[in-house]
This record gives sequence, structure tokens and C-alpha cells, in this order.
Amino acid sequence: MGSVGGQARKLAYCGAILLALLPAGASVAAAGQVAVTAEIGGDGEHTRYVAFLSKNTEYRIFSISDPYRVVVDLPEANIQVPAGGRGLVLSSRSGRLAAGKSRIVIDLAEPALVEKSGVLPPENGLPARLVIELTKSTHTAFLAKIKAPPPPESGNQGQAASQQKRDLGDKRPVIVVDPGHGGVDAGAHGHSTNTPEKDVTLEFCKVFKEKLEESGKFRIIVTRTTDDFVELDERARMASETTADLLVSIHADALDVKKLGEKNVQEVRGGTIYTLSETASDEQAKLIAQNENKADLQAGVGNEQPLPATVKAEISSILGELENRGKKNRSLALANYLIEHMKDKMKFNLRPQRSANLRVLKAAGVPAILIELGYLSHIEDEKLLTSPEWRAKTATALAAAVSEFMSERIARIPL
Ligand SMILES: [Zn+2]
Repeated sequence: MGSVGGQARKLAYCGAILLALLPAGASVAAAGQVAVTAEIGGDGEHTRYVAFLSKNTEYRIFSISDPYRVVVDLPEANIQVPAGGRGLVLSSRSGRLAAGKSRIVIDLAEPALVEKSGVLPPENGLPARLVIELTKSTHTAFLAKIKAPPPPESGNQGQAASQQKRDLGDKRPVIVVDPGHGGVDAGAHGHSTNTPEKDVTLEFCKVFKEKLEESGKFRIIVTRTTDDFVELDERARMASETTADLLVSIHADALDVKKLGEKNVQEVRGGTIYTLSETASDEQAKLIAQNENKADLQAGVGNEQPLPATVKAEISSILGELENRGKKNRSLALANYLIEHMKDKMKFNLRPQRSANLRVLKAAGVPAILIELGYLSHIEDEKLLTSPEWRAKTATALAAAVSEFMSERIARIPL
């Protein structure tokens, strides 16, 4: 038992190091929370995913397709997964799903079945561990196994919206502020500091929201205020259901250094403002939409996008609805207005206005823009995006520009 105590101490010690490395505002393991450290063993036929636990815990496991994934839900835990994959495991990630819930998402290299899983008690100097045995399978066998879908359990669905329902007595315009990503979906990562996009967006939106509220002219709804996962459709729904006047989704881009090379990546920087369109304005916009639309998949929720024809029809009907309400070009007008009024205050991309099929912007009838604040893959941009001074200055200027655009005078100009 002594050695188990030693392992527990070792895990607690890891937690302390993690605490020291985490940026301010990031979530850390609370006292009494389970600490989990995962390891992968085996080969392309049989792979074992082992999560060492600081104490015994309950879990739920299920598989989903498109792409092939195994999802493990745990009570809120401080989880460290290994970098990369091995055998049947391509990669894995972890994070908070909602208050009291954490999740590990395991991406499979090919179809594989969970042969068995279970929590082994502490023994022979090892702590308790959740062992997942994966065996190579076929597409058909994988689909047959997951036929019965798991009971729905996703993030803090509806909570935020119901807490923030439009107050009928409050006639002020409603602006939905949406910090991109969160929880198990970290988004992009910083080039030098590995700072996750979800932290950059959350910290930025805190200031942005505060500054918008200071004017007293708007009612602000925020899609998340903590490091939790919120589905893309849920974010859009918060805007639709409250018949918001505007949705502003905040993100930070990153280019793939492995694919494009360091030199090319360091040549691209600056902010971009996106609006919704059936087809992407260019290749880069198409790529960004693909990446941003993957947020739910990253968190082990949902499947890959439906057929392009369906998506096109869906967007076409949303754009049609905006037209019916006389708001068709309002998103585009705002994007252009912000670029014009922010260009002295924030660095923009060479092509700062783009459009694409971005799932979060599909809030029916609500003008919506998605701002990529800059590139986390660019060394200078990353310094800015992680700087509290830059954040305060830029979020304040953005709030002022949005506020001006939304002001009575401008809002009444027919567009
Ligand atoms: Zn993003």
C-alpha cells in the first residue's frame, strides 16, 4: 500500500507542476478531484489505453463514427493524455465537458472495437487504473457495435441560454458574445507557448463583454464563461432563441507548420473577419471553416458534416431569412465597418474579409460574424494574442466599434 501512496503522491506532485505551468484563468484540479494520467501500449492489432487514476471513479464509455472515436466520460478530473498515438490510437485529448464532468476523446487510426474496459483496483504498487482494450475491426463491425446511440450528454446544453433568456422588459439590442472552443475542444495551439485557442478566446471575450456592457446600450449574452465545451449548434441556438441582434464569435487561427513549413507559416498573420456564405470566398476560408466546424468532433460529439448539398440548402435558407428581415447584408456591412474602424488599432490579414460555411454563424435570422483575432502559429501574433495589454486595448476598441455600428443612427440606415 505504501507504494500506492507513493504513486498518489507522485500524481499529486504532477498536478502541482501543471498548476505552475498553466496560464492564469485555466482550470486546474480542485482538491479531491481525480487525477488521471493516460498511457498507450500495444500494436496495430491490439491496443491498450490505460488511464491511471488517483482514486477509484465511475466512467462511461461509448464509440462514435465519422471519424472513428472512443469517448470516455468521467467526473470532473485533472487529465493528462499522452502526446500522439500508438497502434490503433491516432491521438487523444481531454478536458472539461461541463461542471462536474470531464471527457477523454480517443481518435482511432482505423475501426476498432472496445473489447473490454474496466477499473482495476490498486495492486503491486500501481494505482487504480481504467483499462480499455481495443481490437482491430472492420467498418461494418464498428457500425454494428455502436448501433444503439448513447444517451445524449453534452456540455452545459441550454443552461447558459436559459440563465440568460431575454428579459421582456429590457428593450435593448441583444449581442451574443461567443468565445470559440472550450473544455475538451482546445482549438488551435500557440507556436511557442502552446497556449490553447480556447483560453485566448475566453480571456478576450471577458474584456469584450465588459466593455460592451459598460456602454449600457446592450444586453450581452455569453455562450460560455468557463472552460467548458459548448456545441456549435447550441451557440447558434442561444442567438436564435433570444432573437439576438448580433452574434460575434471570437477565434484565433493557426496554420499547420508540418504541412506548410515554418517559413510559409511565419509569413501569414493578422486578423480576419468572416461572414456566412454557401461557398467559401477562397481556399483559406474553406480550410478555416473545415477546422472551426470540427469543434464538435474534437469533443466527441456528433459526426462529420452532412452532404454539401444539404449544407448549401440550409445556409441558403438562413441567408433567405435574413433577407426577409431586411438584414441580408448587415453581417457583411459590420465586417467591413469593423475592418475600417479597427485597422489602426489591430493588425489585419492581407485579405481581412472572407466568407465561408461556418457552422456557428448559422443562427437563423441573426446577423453574425466570426473574428479570427490573428494567427497563433505566427510568433509575433502569438505574443500579442497572449498579452493582457494587447487584449485590453483590442477588446476595448472592438467593443467601441461594434457599439458605434449598432447605435441608432447607423442601425437605421437601410442596407
Ligand atoms: Zn477556432
